[in-house]
Amino acid sequence: MDVTGKFPCDTCDTNCCKEYTIFVNAHDVYRLSVGLGIPPMGFLEMHGAKDFDLGIDVDEGLLDLALKQNDGGCMFLKESGDIFRCTVNEVKPSVCKSYPFQMKAGKLIQMDSKMCPVDWNTEEFEAMMQTHLKNDEREWNFYDELVLEWNSKQLSERPLSLFLKFAMDMVGSEITTD
Ligand code: SF4
Ligand code: SF4
Repeated sequence: MDVTGKFPCDTCDTNCCKEYTIFVNAHDVYRLSVGLGIPPMGFLEMHGAKDFDLGIDVDEGLLDLALKQNDGGCMFLKESGDIFRCTVNEVKPSVCKSYPFQMKAGKLIQMDSKMCPVDWNTEEFEAMMQTHLKNDEREWNFYDELVLEWNSKQLSERPLSLFLKFAMDMVGSEITTD
């Protein structure tokens, strides 16, 4: 709910899904691939790494992974009537679930630069978002470790497809041993 009692996304033109590049980690890729039943390259696009120490080192370059986009924004954003909606709500990337919240000094706050047309009622989301943001941090740490492990492997050929298989296997075994 927003501070006026409405759910903010209901009255918004999904500005966030149209403007941002959605970078994803291994858990995001796993959930989307398994949940939608499509291979990762069906929804991923490659970007040059933002952080050279943590880019995925593959034959294609030093990369980060993001969701594919079309002219109107994220590939999973679809127009229905005169509104736009996410078509993968159950398995959407963690960053999409977090937005526009973040933790600062142990306190849940809304991002300074958020695109939402109204303010959210932060108190209402406090418990849910704290749990989610903690899990999100854990998954990004897992991803960083996984990329470092991959980059340290001495392989003569290292296509992105092999990295994706490695990442899916690592997440799969983490989930089954949870
Ligand atoms: S996955 Fe869904 S919520 Fe995330 S950017 Fe795409 S359409 Fe928006
Ligand atoms: S910009 Fe904010 S209000 Fe609009 S769809 Fe995104 S999260 Fe919801």
